[in-house]
Amino acid sequence: MELPFAESWKIKMVEPIRKSTRAEREQWIKEANYNVFQLKADQVYIDGLTDSGTGAMSDRQWAALMMGDESYAGARSFYELKDTITRITGFEYVIPTHQGRAAENVLFSALVKEGDVVPGNSHFDTTKGHIESRRAMALDCTVDEAKNTQLEVPFKGNVDPKKLEKALEEYHDKVPFIIVTITNNTAGGQPVSMQNLREVRAIADKYNKRVLFDSARFAENAYFIKTREEGYADKTIKEICREMFALADGMTMSAKKDGLVNMGGFIATRWEDWYEAAKKFCIPFEGYLTYGGMNGRDMAALAVGLDENTEFDNLDTRIRQVQYLASLLDEYGIPYQRPVGGHAIFVDASKVLTKIPKEEFPAQTLTIELYKEAGIRGCEIGYILADRDPITRENRFGGNDFVRICVARRVYTDNHMKVIAAALKNVYDRRDEITHGVEIVWEAPLMRHFTVKLKPIE
Ligand SMILES: *Cc1c(COP(=O)(O)O)cnc(C)c1O
Repeated sequence: MELPFAESWKIKMVEPIRKSTRAEREQWIKEANYNVFQLKADQVYIDGLTDSGTGAMSDRQWAALMMGDESYAGARSFYELKDTITRITGFEYVIPTHQGRAAENVLFSALVKEGDVVPGNSHFDTTKGHIESRRAMALDCTVDEAKNTQLEVPFKGNVDPKKLEKALEEYHDKVPFIIVTITNNTAGGQPVSMQNLREVRAIADKYNKRVLFDSARFAENAYFIKTREEGYADKTIKEICREMFALADGMTMSAKKDGLVNMGGFIATRWEDWYEAAKKFCIPFEGYLTYGGMNGRDMAALAVGLDENTEFDNLDTRIRQVQYLASLLDEYGIPYQRPVGGHAIFVDASKVLTKIPKEEFPAQTLTIELYKEAGIRGCEIGYILADRDPITRENRFGGNDFVRICVARRVYTDNHMKVIAAALKNVYDRRDEITHGVEIVWEAPLMRHFTVKLKPIE
C-alpha cells in the first residue's frame, strides 16, 4: 500500500497542557469578561489565538541560540542573519527590529507622510495603523473574490490589477510605494500568485513606483505557488522565494511567523536610499543598526529558522496539518473561508449562528461557545475587531464575521486538530439553540478587541 504522510520531524521536548471542566471554563470566561484575550494561558487547553511567536524552535535553532554573539556593534549573529536574508531574498540591506510592526514603524517613518495613499491587498491591522497614524490612507485593492467565503479560487489573496492601476492614476504623486501582503493574512491567509506579483511589478514600473512586500508568511506563499501555480512544481521553495522577491524593492518582516522564532522582525531592501532613510529611525526607535530590536542569540536562531522554513518538507508538514483540520470541518459541514489558507481556519460565524443578529456579535459568541465546549481559544476576526467608524462612531458591520483558529507551527499534533474539529461540530450541532449573543459593557476608544468587556444577553 502507499505509505501515509507523516511529519518531517520528531519530538525532543514536550510541554504538558491541562484539560479543564466545563464548570471551570464557565467561571473563567466570566472572570475574563467574555474576552478570550483576558484569559490566562493556563486556562486554555488548545491555543489557537495566533500563530505569531507561538511556534516551536528546532534543536538547531536552540543550538544557534547558545552560539549567539551579544556584541553591541558588528555582532557575528547579525552577519549570519543578514547573509541568510540576502541569500533567500536577494536584498542586500538589512535592519533587524523587535517585531514586524517595529519594521513598519521604522520604514514608514522614513517613507510615509500626511496625505499619502498606500495601495495594497488587505493591509494588516498594524500596517494600516502605521499608515493611518501618519494621516495617510491605506487603500485596499484586493480582488473581489476574497469577500465570498465559499468561492474556491487558488490565489484569493491577489491584488486586483484594475483597482491598483486606478489608484495609481488617481493618486499618482501621493503614492510612496505599493504594498503586497504575502500571504494575505486579513483575507484568511490566502496566497498571492507569482503571475499577480508580476502584474503588480509591471504596473509599478509603468508609474515609476516601488513595491514593498509585507512578508510575514512569504514561505507559505511560496509553498502555494509551488503546489498550485503552473510551472512551479519542480522549483525549490528557495528558488521561488528568490523569484518572488526579485519582483519587490524591499520587505518588512514579522519573524514571529515564517521566521520560526518567538520574537523578531526586520526590514530588507535592495535600495541604499531606503536603507539610509530607515537607518535614521532605527537608531532612536529600535537600537543600533546591527541589532535593531533583537538579541544576538535571537538573530542567530532566526537565521536558522529562515533557512529551515524555506525547505519544502517543513512547510508541507505545516500546511498539510492546516488542511487536515479543514478536511474535518468539510466532513462536518462547518462553513469557513475557502479554500483554507496557510496558517488558520476562518469559520464563517454568520453562516453558523444564524439566529444571532449582528448587533449581538455572532463570531464573538461562537468564540466563547468553543472555549466553553473544550477549552479551545480562537479569536474573533469580525465585528468587534472591526471597531467603530471614526466619524459616526457606529459599529462597522460591513466585513466578514469570522472565528479564526490559528495553528501554531510544529506545536500541536493531528490529534489536537481532531479535538478542535469535534468541539466545533458539537457547537455546530446545537447552533439553533444558541439564540442570544453578547453586548459590550466597556470598550477602549481604539483597538477595542484586546480589552473589551462583554456580557451575555439573557
Ligand atoms: C503579524 C503581522 C504583522 C505585524 O507583525 P508583529 O510581529 O506582530 O508586529 C504585519 N503584517 C502581517 C501580514 C502580519 O501577519
